[in-house]
Amino acid sequence: MSNTNLLNETHNPALSSWVKSANVENCDFPIQNLPFASFKRKHSEEALRAGVAIGDQVVDLKALYELNIFEGDAQLALEKCCSAQLNDFMSMGKRFWSALRQALSLSLTQGAAHEAKLASCLVAQTDVEYALPCQIGDYTDFYTSIHHATSVGKKFRPDNPLLPNYKWVPIGYHGRSSSIEVSGSDFKRPKGQTKAPTATEPSFGPCKRLDYEMEVGIFIGNGNDLGAPISIENAEDHVFGMCLFNDWSARDIQGWEYQPLGPFLSKSFASTVSPWIVTFEALAPFRAAWTRDEADPQPMPYLESQQNRDLGSLDLNLQVLIETQAMRKAGEKPVQLSQSNFKDSYWTVAQMVAHHTVNGCNLRAGDMFGSGTQSGPNPEEAGSMLELSNAGSEPITLPNGETRTFLEDGDAIIMKGWCKKSGSARIGFGEVNATILAAD
Ligand code: CA
Repeated sequence: MSNTNLLNETHNPALSSWVKSANVENCDFPIQNLPFASFKRKHSEEALRAGVAIGDQVVDLKALYELNIFEGDAQLALEKCCSAQLNDFMSMGKRFWSALRQALSLSLTQGAAHEAKLASCLVAQTDVEYALPCQIGDYTDFYTSIHHATSVGKKFRPDNPLLPNYKWVPIGYHGRSSSIEVSGSDFKRPKGQTKAPTATEPSFGPCKRLDYEMEVGIFIGNGNDLGAPISIENAEDHVFGMCLFNDWSARDIQGWEYQPLGPFLSKSFASTVSPWIVTFEALAPFRAAWTRDEADPQPMPYLESQQNRDLGSLDLNLQVLIETQAMRKAGEKPVQLSQSNFKDSYWTVAQMVAHHTVNGCNLRAGDMFGSGTQSGPNPEEAGSMLELSNAGSEPITLPNGETRTFLEDGDAIIMKGWCKKSGSARIGFGEVNATILAAD
């Protein structure tokens, strides 16, 4: 199977929009993207509602619904986009997501009949603020980068970095959804118990090894009933879309608390998502073959399908940048810490969905998976400071001469993501950006 089966007119790279900013080279939000967010005008008393990005504008979907120019499934979908959270729209399923995407694409295309009416629904992105796109009921964090798992494992077990289950089980744990916030939400350095390897007793205080994790977030659309697993063949029908995800981590708290039940307070103080959900449909041109090394265990049947082999992987570039307080004061631009790609993930999105539900666990609209830190095969592709600084033993030097092992107060971490391939329109994820504030 090739990805042409998943493509339709909305992916046509020749399409351009009457919203001129959408046609600018390297724009994250060309007409082929059409991602969803929850927004309102900055500092206004307006109600939050759903919007779709086009160029440097947001299409206000509530205003569009009230115009009553769409028909059938697209108008039914719009009705669900009038509320602050997208859960009801996400639970409608692929038929409605696609109908709305197709109607938006037609109306935003150069020469569209509805141009004047649609133009009245546009709000400049510079004038809006975002909220979480949906209520995230449950959040599960996976661990799908074998490169991250190996390099982190080496720090604890040099001779045996990967635990024996890694190549069989898409490892995950249940995280805390209440502390997930949208880009721009700064947070205080957490406090907690830590214990230095040489100390006889733990101590209490602000985290000293604060880190980021470069992940992608995967949003579930329509869920499944308790007791009714989702097969790998149907898994992608349940995936609404993806965002960028920074899973902030307190390594010193983690090191002391994580055994035997896994991370707890080292992860639940803050996590940050990018405002825009790029739909799984928009990502179709960037699907790629997924392989498993012949020397490795092959997936069990419930984690195996031809479509997953042919198209399970996703060519999604990921980038992490830092802006320190000193850089901000000097008016310097953020600098890159690393770049990686989601195509290097050991497990696919479909495998995560199939595995999560194989025991009968029910997923619900708005549930989010973290992919786990996406580190690539090369050291410079590491998705965390833990790896870049070799657990704090090798400080990295920034262009302005500052050094970092872990993050300091005033540091902002910015993550970007984009898909690019010849013969397709480049689409971007926007960014996720948050700054660390001093502990109380
Ligand atoms: Ca994580």
